[in-house]
Amino acid sequence: MASTATVDDWSALAGEVDIPDRAFIDGEYVESAGGETFECVSPIDGRVLANVAACTVEDVGRAVAGARTAFESGVWSQAAPKERKRVLLKLADLVRSHADELAVLETLDMGKPIRESRRTDIRLVAECIQYYGEAVDKVYDEIAPTARNAVAMIYREPLGVVGAVVPWNFPLLMASWKLGPALAVGNSVVLKPAEQSPLTALRLAGLAAEAGLPAGVLQVLPGDGPGAGQPLGLHRDVDMITFTGSTEVGKLFLRYSGESNMKRVSLECGGKSPHVILPDCHDLGAAATAAAWGVFYNQGEVCNAGSRLVVHEQIKDEFMPLLLAAAERIVAGDPLDPKTSLGAMVDETQTRRVLDYIDKGQNEGADLILGGTRVRTDTGGFYIEPTVFDHVRNDMTIAREEIFGPVLSTITVGSEDEAIAVANDTMYGLAAAIWTDSVDTAHRVARAIRAGIVWVNTFDAGDISSPFGGFKQSGFGRDKSMHALEKYTDLKTVWIGLRD
Ligand code: NAD
Repeated sequence: MASTATVDDWSALAGEVDIPDRAFIDGEYVESAGGETFECVSPIDGRVLANVAACTVEDVGRAVAGARTAFESGVWSQAAPKERKRVLLKLADLVRSHADELAVLETLDMGKPIRESRRTDIRLVAECIQYYGEAVDKVYDEIAPTARNAVAMIYREPLGVVGAVVPWNFPLLMASWKLGPALAVGNSVVLKPAEQSPLTALRLAGLAAEAGLPAGVLQVLPGDGPGAGQPLGLHRDVDMITFTGSTEVGKLFLRYSGESNMKRVSLECGGKSPHVILPDCHDLGAAATAAAWGVFYNQGEVCNAGSRLVVHEQIKDEFMPLLLAAAERIVAGDPLDPKTSLGAMVDETQTRRVLDYIDKGQNEGADLILGGTRVRTDTGGFYIEPTVFDHVRNDMTIAREEIFGPVLSTITVGSEDEAIAVANDTMYGLAAAIWTDSVDTAHRVARAIRAGIVWVNTFDAGDISSPFGGFKQSGFGRDKSMHALEKYTDLKTVWIGLRD
């Protein structure tokens, strides 16, 4: 679609696009074993897009068996790295040439603005797959520094069958953070997208087959958590679960592992990221814009959303009007309109959950200073306006729990030490940001904050080259970068004794 495409152009494409509604097992689109389906509802207007196959334990069994057969056959797991590279680069090309279709499916299914689906999500999906395709024939094994009477080789081997369970907020991007490295090193993957947003993962499976990925190497099972996610987590022939989602469900996967075959588990979970504005930050306008976008981007449905604004009292009076002005410019609109910057919440349940938190904030004594209401109700869709609370204490529910919606909690502090203490006073440790003009302060505070990523004078910046993941109950294991390859492989030592 040209950069001049209008809401009419995107709406026309949305009306024509094929909606994938079946599971993908052993190279084919299939119904679920029991023939059951679930309604896939568009958050844009509440209409049913499709009845999608609802996979359950039987489908999981079939998909894992097929993935195992493919793995043991060696067709992919033992293919030369340059062959796997060829297929992944082809897949990245296909994602690019189908970018409009994938973007419109993502927006229809999940409600994010089309300009984000097209310019951010799908572009990054292609970049991610390309990165791991290009990386895989540049990774060397090792030889240990032994005495001269031995040679000890350290190989990295694929794990086998990897179960990937992902959330709905960046449906295809989160899936690609798993698929890129897991497939590159030779695993077979059984992917379970979130039930709220299965469409792009299903479409990607067809593109992967077109790129030459052998049957069984990528299986995609739509279905809900208890129906499809749990049997995957408990399956004794799955070697690893790579998960992105809530901390609560992440803990369930640890349990499933302990109750079954001690499969490896990698968890990317929730967050309650502090966005800290210190008094020696002189560009308060830039900080305010970043603070607004840091929590309202993707409707606030972002694991690393800067949902706690920790602002120093010395600059608060100057900062807050700038923040409110930036927030007021972010207005909910039709997600298919390229001018829209705030789309629809993923579903009615999430909408109600966020509105409940807004009520709780008021009931616990925080001041609602912007928004707080459901909007665009005439559309039949799910929209909430940007919402800002002031005078929040860090022990209030809205400062402690992950809201996963466009709600910002402002906490005032009187010193750098207090800012650090508030930033760290959370069970999460995914991300944080600080604004300061002092290089000393930047280093000191960044080191003191316990989070997997700390941004200085920016927010949510990064690319595929740097690791992403959390401390504390935000999980463990890292997505992105060369480090992600480590978790999808095991080390094997081959020690050869040498005779004199
Ligand atoms: P969720 O935990 O409810 O669901 C995530 C996945 O787990 C879905 O596929 C779901 O079907 C599955 N699931 C749910 N219940 C299950 C069960 N009992 N057994 C097995 N599987 C089950 O999360 P969500 O609501 O889809 O996504 C929002 C969460 O994801 C937020 O907490 C957010 O912070 C987190 N997230 C984290 C990152 C990160 O990189 N750290 C990125 C994006 C989202």
